[in-house]
Amino acid sequence: MEGLKRQRVFDLLKGNANHMIEQEVNVKGWVRTRRGNKNVHFIALNDGSIIHNIQVVVEVADFKNEELLKHITTGACISVNGKLVESKGQGQSLEIIAREIELYGGADPEKYPLQKKGHTLEFLREIAHLRPRTNTFGAIFRLRHALAFAIHKYFNDHGFFYLHTPIITGSDAEGAGAMFRVTTLDLDNIPRTEEGKVDFSEDFFGKETNLTVSGQLEGELGALALSNIYTFGPTFRAENSNTTRHLAEFWMIEPEMAFYDIKDNMDLAEDFLKYLIRYLLENCPDDLEFLQKMYDSELIERLRFVTSNTFERLSYTEAIEILMASKQSFEFPVSWGVDLQAEHERYLVEKHFRKPVILTDYPKEIKAFYMKLNEDGKTVRAMDVLFPKIGEIIGGSQREESYDKLFGKIKEMGIHEKDVWWYLETRKFGSAPHSGFGLGFERLMLFVTGMGNIRDVIPFPRTPQNAEF
Ligand code: ATP
Ligand code: MN
Repeated sequence: MEGLKRQRVFDLLKGNANHMIEQEVNVKGWVRTRRGNKNVHFIALNDGSIIHNIQVVVEVADFKNEELLKHITTGACISVNGKLVESKGQGQSLEIIAREIELYGGADPEKYPLQKKGHTLEFLREIAHLRPRTNTFGAIFRLRHALAFAIHKYFNDHGFFYLHTPIITGSDAEGAGAMFRVTTLDLDNIPRTEEGKVDFSEDFFGKETNLTVSGQLEGELGALALSNIYTFGPTFRAENSNTTRHLAEFWMIEPEMAFYDIKDNMDLAEDFLKYLIRYLLENCPDDLEFLQKMYDSELIERLRFVTSNTFERLSYTEAIEILMASKQSFEFPVSWGVDLQAEHERYLVEKHFRKPVILTDYPKEIKAFYMKLNEDGKTVRAMDVLFPKIGEIIGGSQREESYDKLFGKIKEMGIHEKDVWWYLETRKFGSAPHSGFGLGFERLMLFVTGMGNIRDVIPFPRTPQNAEF
């Protein structure tokens, strides 16, 4: 077949393709549908560059190879040379009158699982290797890309440096969740110490190692040198929590800023989230409209609402008072000192304030060791950002910069000094006030796509009992 430069469907339908009209172009992609009669076929072709298909018109009489046409069924991959013309049909601007078609790969209609009818999201999870070819997952994965790009752009434009923190970690001090062990020991023949314990000195790194639950501690080391850094990488939690909001492998964005107090931290979180949502509204309208039509009729309205309203800021203590005074009956009872559950967070956001909320100053007992203690001696300078439909989307804090207080805290919590000596040294040498937060990438994806299950916003979800694909 004649070698023409491939045009992306996106460029034909959304770019300025007018100069190509009446000319010969090439497109390649996967057949979504084929309909027509014995004289003319209409192929809806999609190459993933955009949610829309381009229509390919095949005049059967013009085709010598009628046998080939039989193989152009839903799911088949083809390359088409033909003339780009203005469409006479409704709902599309340009189409291609095929002159030559090459079949790259057929898809047996008896066996190809993605036939035209709407499939359930549950079924599509079982065929995660093929679901990117659906409109829904095409839209979600393009949005995921745009969101990741916007995150890097925001930080780059604001003078933050992208710091790569390790995925394999030798410290389990963070305490954010149960960890996955990393080992090359022979599990059928585990070396033992004299006391009968596993002898990790024989292991690959000569010590116990795990997959990271957070890049924060190393992120702080970066901030205490480069001022403003962020991480954006995979994190792992071996929690057996089979919910629609938890993955065993998820991506986290963790900015860390020297010279920021908790207020600066909240301002950044709010500005950052609004920027990201605005970016998607401006750059991905077709995909958002599709998801709105199919899954969540209030999606775009909700996104606009977040970008145009100031987040409500209040303390944990004030939030507890509101929850205790409410008439709502909660599954988990509320009193000062309890960790808030998603039902409490969503009550505050969806029923009480009806907008995003930032809670601060949590009891020290329910937060991590590195958070800065307030003057009251009871609460720490933590902040959680709560979103409608999601609950907690960001967790952050101002960090304890005093060596003595931090040292006291790790002793109190039974953390071994040998695990965090390097972290403590930053408070010994040139310590500085600093703050940061962690944003769960897939939690934000849930919010911006309107999807209900976190398994549907990451290409290949990892959850308890599931590591297929
Ligand atoms: P939750 O209470 O919802 O389990 P967490 O308190 O364990 O969250 P952090 O340790 O503060 O969460 O992690 C920072 C952010 O990472 C959270 O605000 C959330 O957006 C996200 N996150 C935490 N755990 C998961 C998970 N298992 N899957 C996906 N995202 C997560
Ligand atoms: Mn958790």
